[in-house]
Amino acid sequence: MSDRAQRLAARLPELELDALVVSSLVNVRYLTGYTGSNGLVLLGSQLRVFMTDFRYSEQAAAEVGDAFERRIVAQELIDAVPELLAGQRLRLGFEDAHLSVRAHARLRELLGDGVELVAAGDPVEQLRAIKEPEEVQRIARAAALADEALEEVLGQGLVGRTERAVATALSRAMIDRGARRDSFDPIVAAGPHGALPHAEPREVEIGAGQLVVIDWGAELDGYCSDCTRTVATGDPGEDARAIYELVAEAQRVGLGALAPGASGRDVDAAARAVIDGAGHAEHYGHGLGHGVGLEIHEGPRLSQRSDSVLCAGNVVTVEPGVYLPGRFGVRIEDLAVVTESGARVLSSLRKDLWIVG
Ligand code: ZN
Ligand code: ZN
Repeated sequence: MSDRAQRLAARLPELELDALVVSSLVNVRYLTGYTGSNGLVLLGSQLRVFMTDFRYSEQAAAEVGDAFERRIVAQELIDAVPELLAGQRLRLGFEDAHLSVRAHARLRELLGDGVELVAAGDPVEQLRAIKEPEEVQRIARAAALADEALEEVLGQGLVGRTERAVATALSRAMIDRGARRDSFDPIVAAGPHGALPHAEPREVEIGAGQLVVIDWGAELDGYCSDCTRTVATGDPGEDARAIYELVAEAQRVGLGALAPGASGRDVDAAARAVIDGAGHAEHYGHGLGHGVGLEIHEGPRLSQRSDSVLCAGNVVTVEPGVYLPGRFGVRIEDLAVVTESGARVLSSLRKDLWIVG
């Protein structure tokens, strides 16, 4: 953790900052290892301060260790920042996507005129986008656990069970295998319901001969997994099989386009061209993928508006879909880690059309 703080501190000069206040809890966790619900980091070239309140004193001692000076603060954590900078003239950055307007106003009020408060963007997220080998391992373990859970649940059949029951069984199977929780609420959507990319599982029984979109993931050791399979309960018909093959091809092309130096926009475009070429451009309205790590959605993005450029260590989803309103939907999603030479898929589940009873 301390070398993460070191890497962040090394970036301060190029950001034209003397210090940075990190208020996003997930970013505090990334830098310090702290998993509690109240924490703040103040970081400068030589400054490493972690703040929390008395409830988390012991937890912070165990998780944060000595890489940071630990301070137990009685007031709002943000109120303790100015005294640490007292009398200095400096540029203090803040995470503009996370610091509330109220906290910003409070900080401005308490800081002397010598401190310039500067919107710093998302420097910690930029570090987080490039995973260390140990982080990739954790994500791979979460993905393997989620894969096993799906195999168990599909082994019990789908026809006659409700979407809701299948989603609950999937969550339970992941918890039974040691997951902390779902990494997001699972999607189980049969037939026409599958045409909604963010469908909520319903108390509706799954019938025979339907496509069923299942999008689920586990959180393990703080790290998330994310996967989608579209399976069939018996033969779903020629059109559904053709769309399945189309999406599978788009996904292969998308995975094949992952490489260091490729832009998120180009990878999206490569997979999108397959679907557009088959005349289904208007049935694919979302981006190709997103980064996954401590959070289920993080950088880099693979989309038409992405300004990300991939590099080794990025972990991203590749998840094209085709959604035919009133009929069915198909989405196929894998997690992949970008390597020096291309990418390695972290999901192990089959991708030919999986027929489940
Ligand atoms: Zn997903
Ligand atoms: Zn996803």
